[in-house]
Order: sequence, then structure tokens, then C-alpha cells
Amino acid sequence: MHIIDTVYIDGAFVTPHGDEWFDLFNPATEAVIGRVRLAGADDANAAVAAAARAFPAFSRLGKRARIDMLMRLHDAVAAREDALFEAIVEEYGAPVSRGRWMAQHAASVLRDAANVLEGYAFTRRAGTAEVTMQPLGVAGLITPWNSNAGFICGKLAAAIAAGCTAVVKPSEMSALQTRIVTEALHEAGLPPGVFNIVTGRGETVGARIAAHPGVAKLSFTGSTAVGKTILRTAAETLKRVTLELGGKSPVVVLDDANFDTAVPLALQAGFMNSGQACIAGTRLLVPHARLAEFEARVVEAVAQIHAGDPRDARTSVGPMVSRKQWERVQGYIRAGIDEGARVLAGGLHRPEGVEKGWFVRPTVFSDVTNDMTIAREEIFGPVLSIIAYRDTDHAVEIANDTHYGLQAYVLSASTDRAREVAARIEAGRVLVNTLAHEPAAPFGGFKQSGIGREYGRFGLEAFLEPKSTLGVL
Ligand code: NAD
Repeated sequence: MHIIDTVYIDGAFVTPHGDEWFDLFNPATEAVIGRVRLAGADDANAAVAAAARAFPAFSRLGKRARIDMLMRLHDAVAAREDALFEAIVEEYGAPVSRGRWMAQHAASVLRDAANVLEGYAFTRRAGTAEVTMQPLGVAGLITPWNSNAGFICGKLAAAIAAGCTAVVKPSEMSALQTRIVTEALHEAGLPPGVFNIVTGRGETVGARIAAHPGVAKLSFTGSTAVGKTILRTAAETLKRVTLELGGKSPVVVLDDANFDTAVPLALQAGFMNSGQACIAGTRLLVPHARLAEFEARVVEAVAQIHAGDPRDARTSVGPMVSRKQWERVQGYIRAGIDEGARVLAGGLHRPEGVEKGWFVRPTVFSDVTNDMTIAREEIFGPVLSIIAYRDTDHAVEIANDTHYGLQAYVLSASTDRAREVAARIEAGRVLVNTLAHEPAAPFGGFKQSGIGREYGRFGLEAFLEPKSTLGVL
């Protein structure tokens, strides 16, 4: 039984003022595996105060010193890879292959930020003025449970690279991972107050950070509904805001696609992170003329997908993170059936032979129209919709007929054709015949998938404000 009874403020592990205890579960067994004492609004205030005290000195440090700090943070998190991996599998239920990648990713984003900083010029010229990119101040970083360690480290990396100090509010459901990451970051020996980590409820700690007049910048990853609340709150003090929200990403399968590669790639895009991924490709747009062939391939391929024990190396779809999430996903499968979509693979309930754990059957619907609930709303589980299209114009129309615009995928035998279609899709990222991530490229959403960008130079600049000095050149 893990007991987590401290938060991290001003360079020290301290007992929070908050006195609510929250249970942590293993989603594969439904067993309670730990308890975390949650921070309250007073702790958020103390964390902001510590970050504000640290800001003047930290923001004046040179680029070299911050690169050195980022690399120390990287090394410290990398050294805890095995412990982090264990926590990710135990607390989140990530299949081991995914969990290993997630543990490594948490360290690598710190190194990526150091690399960006290396090549970044904070001062440039604009006409007769000197323009300096200046850190914004205290940053509030609020993260979800579906890649907890990676989000904490990624947001913190960009804030530190920019010269901001930070208050992190991770998901309350990911306290084991947060503890390991916090211990590692502490070992890197940064000045007290540069970063503070307070696990607590969104409505109390998150809301306090969003409202706090001492916070200049918010970077939030989570649901579109909460993102809108945060934006409204932040408006009071005109905070700079980056929002990374939900998605309903189309996978546009062009009529020349080779199904030997396109079908496995489409299913991987849809079922990644057990379907609990904002970038999951959940709407599979397939030409009418090849629909039957695509469906047959999907049935075959889904039958090979192993959904179950995350510690089994064959597993690619693990459990949903919580009972609530499991029920939500079941609700969407029910809605798909009720609205007349056809279950091609999977369906309601747990996979066969599985009695316990928040496992969902990897599910693919066909005969889906883009106005159905399952085609419009983010399910955040392994549930995909095949939508047939007439021609390329129709495919693009369906792809863009969504409030979201985070990511899209185009699969084609011709890169030129795929590029033309990619250019017409409203999404922050379009992946052509690949699932590979590019850390140097900006990441973020069009439309209601968010505001602003993370990663690379754009991600760094999200924590900076241009300041012009005239008369000095
Ligand atoms: P969520 O929006 O419920 O919570 C996200 C974080 O916000 C948590 O730390 C939560 O405690 C906090 N929070 C909740 N209410 C708050 C409030 N009123 N004020 C301030 N903070 C508050 O999302 P979740 O269920 O943890 O995560 C799933 C969602 O995250 C999905 O919708 C998914 O699409 C989205 N997501 C987006 C990205 C992206 O990069 N675009 C990545 C991963 C997940």
C-alpha cells in the first residue's frame, strides 16, 4: 500500500494543509493500491508564493545555466526510469511496451527542451528596435492522467527553458508517478521555488492556480470542457493561456492506399494508449468502393489484438484508467448501437474471459455517419468509427466536420496526393503514412482542440513575451 502524504513546495516535501485522502487504484485489478493526501487551495497559494520568490533570480540566469539545469533534470528522471515504468503500469495500466516508452519520454522531453534552448536567440532586431523575449513569470501547469509523467516534465521543461518558475498541478489519479518524478526532479538540485508540485483536486487546487493573480501563464492539458472554464477564469487577470484539449482525429484512407500497411497503421492510431489518447485516430474515413475490403481486413486485424493484462507483452490495449472512464466508454458503445451503427468488432462489456479490471473490448463500428454521437464526441477509449466517403472532396468535408482539430492522418500510396489532402485538413498536425512523433514540431489544436502550441521553438515561445527596446541600436 503506497501512502503519499506530502506535496513539494519551495524545494521541500511538506505536509499539505489539505486533509482529504484520495484512493489510488490498479485499473487492471480494481484493487486499492495507495492513498494520497490532497493539497488544498492554501497549498496552491504557498506554491505560487514560492515560485514568485524564485522568479527574479531564476529569470536572470543565462541560457547556459538553464541548459545545464535541464540536463540535470533529464539525467535524474532517466535514472528513475524503472521505478517510473512500474508506477505507470501499476497505477495507469499502460501495456508494458507503451509504459516503457512513456517512462523514457518523461526524461527525453527535458533533453529536447535543452536542445531547443541551445539554438534559440532571445534577442533579435526589428527595424531600429532591439526585441528581447522575456519570461512571463510564474507558470501554472495543469496536467491529465493519460500521460502524467510526460506532461509534467514536458511543460516544466518549456517553462524552465524560458526562465519561468512553475507550479504544477498533476492529475490526482496519478500520484504514484508524480511522486517518483518529483523525487527525481528534487535530486537535480534546482534553487528552491523554481518548481513546485501540488497534487490536488481540479476544482480546488487547479481552480486556485487558474485564478491566482500571481500566476502569469497557464498551460493546461485536459478536456475541452475544463479548458473553457480555465480560459474564462484566466480572463480576469489576462493570463497567457496554452490549452491542449480533446480530439476526434480523422484517419483519411485514400483510395490508392495499400491495406497491408494502412489497416494496421489505422488501428494503431486508433487504439494507441489503449484509446486514451487525445491524438487517437478515431474516425476512419474509407472510400465506398473499398469499404467491404477494408472492413474484412479490420475484422481480421482486430481479432489479433490482445486486450488484457498490461504486464503481458502481447497486450496492446490495457484497461481504462478508472471505473468512471470504463462506464463512460461502455455508454458510448451503447450509444453507437442505439443510433444504428453496426458493430464490426468488439462491443459491450469486458473482453471474453476477463472478470475484473476496467477492460474494454477493442471496438470498431461501421455504417457510422458523421452526425452520430460516436463520430462527434471524444470517447477516450478503444472505440473507432468507420465512415464511408464518395470521393476525396467528400473525405475532406467529413474530416473537417468536427469541433476538434488536433491531429489527422492521411494514408496513401502517393505522398504527393496525401500532401494535397493534408493541406486541406484543419488540424494542428497531419501525419502522412506514419505515427512517428517529431519533438521539434509544434503540437496543438485548431478549433476547440485548443489554443497555442507546445514542443520546439513554438512551445518555448509560449512562455515568453516580446519586449522592444528603442533607441539603443
Ligand atoms: P480533465 O479536464 O478532467 O482534467 C485535466 C486536469 O485539470 C486534471 O489535473 C484536473 O484535476 C484539472 N481540473 C479539473 N477541473 C479543473 C478546474 N475547474 N480548474 C482547473 N483545473 C481543473 O481531463 P482528464 O479527464 O484528466 O483527461 C482527459 C482529457 O484530456 C481528454 O479530454 C483528452 O482529450 C485530454 N487530453 C488532451 C491532450 C492534448 O495534448 N491535447 C493530451 C492528453 C489528454
